[in-house]
Amino acid sequence: MKLFTVGPVEMYPETLQVSGTQLPYFRNDEFSSIMKENEQQLLTLCGCRKGRALFLCGSGSAAMEAVVACSFRRQDKVLILRGGSFGERFVQLCRIYGIPYDELCLQELEALRKEHLDAFFQNEYCALLVNLHETSTGQLYDIQLLSAFTKAKNMYLIVDAISSFMADPLDMDQMGIDVLILSSQKALALSCGLSMVVLQESFYRDMVEPKDDICLYLSLKEHARNMERGQTPNTPAVGILMELHERLQHLQGDGFVLEQQRIATRAAYFRSRVQKLEIQLPHFPLSNALTPLLFDGDAQKVYQFLKKNYAITLTPSGGAMRERMLRVGHLGNLKLCDYSALCDGLREYGK
Ligand SMILES: *Cc1c(COP(=O)(O)O)cnc(C)c1O
Repeated sequence: MKLFTVGPVEMYPETLQVSGTQLPYFRNDEFSSIMKENEQQLLTLCGCRKGRALFLCGSGSAAMEAVVACSFRRQDKVLILRGGSFGERFVQLCRIYGIPYDELCLQELEALRKEHLDAFFQNEYCALLVNLHETSTGQLYDIQLLSAFTKAKNMYLIVDAISSFMADPLDMDQMGIDVLILSSQKALALSCGLSMVVLQESFYRDMVEPKDDICLYLSLKEHARNMERGQTPNTPAVGILMELHERLQHLQGDGFVLEQQRIATRAAYFRSRVQKLEIQLPHFPLSNALTPLLFDGDAQKVYQFLKKNYAITLTPSGGAMRERMLRVGHLGNLKLCDYSALCDGLREYGK
């Protein structure tokens, strides 16, 4: 089976080799130095010169929850860009943790425009919470637009880049991003269950550090205190941290840019081929992470056809889009010939 999903994705042989080995013990200097190297290399990849990287045991939503719970107080109103189910998750989190919020809601398949943000310009907010690539629809938001808005309003910019990281251009310092949320199973192509929060030092000092803890396991303060010596408050996802350590060696130097280019090349290649098949794509800007395909009520049938006849798994959609959209992932260990096979399958179905 070939996975054209967005997480877990096809893993690299080097990662699979690490995941098949005995875990080391972690409360010692050797593991601390692996953690410190992971932190430094991740900060470099994110373009964060003065910050912290924290490693949580839990999928990406755990990191989203930790950021909402540990950064904002009941007087810190936030603006949430809600363009799909991941935007909705930020809304749910703010509701649960009692953080006041406004929602900028996009209609189904509607592109974000400057006027959407302008409508909120007069209001006071502490921060903007966005999923840079709203994975549920495939829309990539214009980070320059968002960043200009938060800068002009002197707000913090909190970015869930879980599916955008490595697929699209990203640089925390350059783009004025205060917090970046990442997770192991997307472009990093590691096992599921590790998530990361990268914070600018100023955000940590002004928002996280002064706030009393309201949770323990996801406490960013506890993680930050422990991370000063390369440790975590509880048993971390040791195996995935070892996988990450191995993966980061390949992403050093120009490795990161090369992987980004490979993802972008796959996306461009697939999109040019699929256009000839008369399959519709949405009109909003797309992330390189995936290509959403629109169908006329038979998305599930296409999904089953490819699975059964081509051993290909695409990413199905939920809710209202269940029968209308399938998403084709471009992350992980996929080659152009895999996309040729996929296009053959799609053509065969259409016959
Ligand atoms: C995958 C993803 C998440 C995290 O989902 P989990 O199932 O908790 O890993 C969050 N935000 C976005 C944009 C994602 O693509």
